[in-house]
Order: sequence, then structure tokens, then C-alpha cells
Amino acid sequence: MLAVSKERGEVEKLKVLFASSEVVPFAKTGGLADVAGSLPIALEALGVDVRVIMPKYRSVKADHSETTIGKNVKVYLVENDDYFNRRELYGDKFGDYADNLDRFVFFSRQVLDRCIKEGFRPDIIHCNDWHTALVPVYLNTIYKYDPFFENTRTLFTIHNIAYQGLFPKDDFPKTGLDWALFHIHYFEFYGQINLMKAGIVYADAVSTVSPTYAGEILTKEYGCGLEGVLQDKRDALYGILNGIDYDIWNPATDTKLVKNYSLENLDDKYINKEALQKDLGLKVDCDIPMIGIISRLADQKGMDILAKIINDILSMKVQFILLGTGDHKYHVLLKKMAKAHQKNTSINLKFDALFAERIYASCDILLIPSRYEPCGLGQMISFKYGTIPVARRTGGLKDSIREYDPGTKEGTGFTFDDYKPEALFAAVKRALGLHQHRSAWRELVKRVMELDFSWKVSARDYIELYNKIRK
Ligand code: ADP
Repeated sequence: MLAVSKERGEVEKLKVLFASSEVVPFAKTGGLADVAGSLPIALEALGVDVRVIMPKYRSVKADHSETTIGKNVKVYLVENDDYFNRRELYGDKFGDYADNLDRFVFFSRQVLDRCIKEGFRPDIIHCNDWHTALVPVYLNTIYKYDPFFENTRTLFTIHNIAYQGLFPKDDFPKTGLDWALFHIHYFEFYGQINLMKAGIVYADAVSTVSPTYAGEILTKEYGCGLEGVLQDKRDALYGILNGIDYDIWNPATDTKLVKNYSLENLDDKYINKEALQKDLGLKVDCDIPMIGIISRLADQKGMDILAKIINDILSMKVQFILLGTGDHKYHVLLKKMAKAHQKNTSINLKFDALFAERIYASCDILLIPSRYEPCGLGQMISFKYGTIPVARRTGGLKDSIREYDPGTKEGTGFTFDDYKPEALFAAVKRALGLHQHRSAWRELVKRVMELDFSWKVSARDYIELYNKIRK
């Protein structure tokens, strides 16, 4: 499946260039970075000649324009200090950077030019989100007759359809493309430029990060205006569930933890819990259920329904730890809430990858009340750390969490369908109810720790898809 027989009879590796704006461990604002830093490593292990390309942001610590991840996956770094040597990836406190179109036009052209420079002729360029949506467009326009890319096909993966790369019409010349493409069938979207739309149209295939989300984005409710474009592309639309990298997310080896643990010494999980309670000035008591949330603070993540019932949750015997950053309105609200419930809350309004690992390890319950969730990584990470998700049944959450059934004692978490505060609250109460039954809870914790959400299966699905596109 991996290798391709050439006419001469020799066997050649499948060649994939993975283009992403962010890649762990170099730059991260969300799940895209986790995927870009782990899927290529899984593909490498399966024998693919995979390389990664990303902008060389300030956070990328590398002397040269190339570095590696995994055993030997080359990561090409696109240099341009004016564009990328900045504190943040996409914007600052004033909003998105005004030159984001220029930055990602430049990056997308570099993706193709770098292939030529390196003499690397990919079978597939795997593009991710709007930042790289111009690559399939350029390949089919500016580079259309370039023999170098004669056999190159594209896969465009949507990690979150709400972020489409919208820019004012007047900026269209910056793309270097003919005005004829500012057309309802390509870039034009309610009078604006829409990069993701054009990427979907021009890519040989489109995928998204869970089977359920692949279906959801075909609907008006979830498609964010692109449902029609996707319906036209339906025959080339796929959903492949993300995995996580257990070399990174593993309580047995995680160096950020106070005490490592696994199924064999599960009690040590609670040493982490007590240490965190102490560090955060909370009551040190292992029996108090600890509820965590690690999230961008955006409407997508269910912060509005959580806000409506958070006081009810906090008036129960629980501890609540939040790590997140995002919309100003949620920062204001959460600060207020922290003041009112000082005794049992810890609100941390920042992005802190190391602290996140301690929270995953220490909590009993992780809340993921998302309005929509393309895949979601929090539930997969929390499973591995023996922390039980309470989540809305949408997108990848639906594909990866099974409702706990008190009768059969099967299931892996607590879920709710209606995007309503009452439904979330009921799910939290079900989780807290089970938490009181020590042995049943422990059984559940053990079961989720054994689940396998590594890339093993999904990386093979991607290879199958790459091969399908090449045909
Ligand atoms: P999204 O990409 O929509 O933000 P995902 O669930 O796909 O959501 O991925 C989120 C990733 O970012 C996870 O690895 C999560 O642990 C991490 N994360 C989110 N917020 C923070 C934060 N404030 N500090 C550290 N890590 C965070």
C-alpha cells in the first residue's frame, strides 16, 4: 500500500509534503500544531518519505532554515523576518495582523518554490487550514504547466471551518492571481476574498478531522457558509479522526508531572492531584472531585453555556481549575467568578503547555462543552491521563467518547446532545454521581487509560487516501 511500483520495476516511497502554519514543538496555538507535529512522525514510521514545511516564527529555535522532528522528518522553515519574526502567530491585542494575507501568500508560494529548490517532487502536498489554502490554487494556476509538479496532487484538510481566511476584495491583487478568479465559483464570498473556499475548490481531495464533522460541515448549522461548496465536493470529502502522540502525552513518562503513573501505579495520579491542590492554594483533599477545563476561550468551546451554570457547579463540593485564553468577555467573566469562588477555583488566563499537562494528570473530570468540535484532542489526552471527559456529542467528541451506562458499566465519559446549560449541568451531575462510587469510578478510569487514540489507525487511513488521490 505504501510503495509504488515504477515501470522500471523499482519501488519508490510515497512522497508527502505536509504544509502547516503551526507545528509542535515549534509553534502552537491549537490542535493543528499537535496534528502537524505528530501525524508526519506516524507516517514516517509507516515508510512514507514525509517532510514538513512551516513559517520560521520567532518561537522556532533553529539556526538554519531546516530542522527535524521524529527520527528524521525534515522540517523546512520558511524565513522572512518581516513577516514571521513576531511575538504571536496571527495577531496581537489589537486583532489579526493587518498583513496576514501578504504573509500567507508568501508562505504558500514558498511551499512550492521550496520543493523546487530542494528537488523534492511530492506525490501529495497535504495542506492544512486557510493558511495553506492557496497552495492548491497556485498549483493549478501559476504552476499549472510546470513539469516539476506534473505528478503532484493536493489534499486540503479542514481543522476548523470557522476560520476561513477572509480578506477585503481590494486586496485580491496581493494573491498574484487573475481578477477572473474573484468569482463566486472560486474566491468570492459575500463580497470578500475567502481563501478556504478556493482551497476546497482547487484541492484534489478535501478532508476533515473526524467522520462526524465531515457530515456536519455539509449542513447550514455547521458549514459556516461553505456547506454548498462542500456539497459540490462531496465525492472527494473524507473524515479521518485525529490521533495523539503517546510519546508526548503519557503520564508514565511525562516529565512535567510531580509523579509519573500508569495503570500499574494508578494511586500516584492522586499525588499529582494533591500537589496541584497545594500549589494552587486549594484544599488538599483527594476526595473532592476536581473538574478541569483547558481550552481556547471562544464561543465555539461552550463558554457561553458554561458561564450560565458555573455558579451552580461551584456551589457543589468540587474544585474547578481553568486554563485558557481568548475572548476578552470571557476573561472578564472568569475573573469575576474567580473572586466570588476563591475557595474552590483556580482560574489561569494564559497559554501554558507545561501547566496543561499537570492539569490533565490531576483532574478527575475534564469539561469539553463545545458548540462544535472538529475533532478535539482534550478528550484523547485526558483518557490517557485517567481523567474522564464531560462533553457535548458533536464532531470528533461524538466519534471518540461513549456515554457511560451505569447498568452495563460500559462507556468512556459523560455526554449531552442539546447545546443548553441544563444539559451540560445534568452531564456534570452524572459524572459527579459516579465519582462518589469509588470502585466504579476507578474501573472507568482504568478503562479509559487503556483506550488507544494513537495515530496507528488514522495514519494508515491517510496513506490510503493519498494513494487514492494519486490514482
Ligand atoms: P483547538 O485546536 O480548537 O483549540 P483542540 O482540542 O483540537 O482544540 O486542541 C487544543 C490543544 O491546545 C490541546 O493540545 C490543548 O491541550 C491545548 N490547549 C488549549 N488551550 C491551552 C492553554 N491555555 N494552555 C495550554 N494548552 C492549551
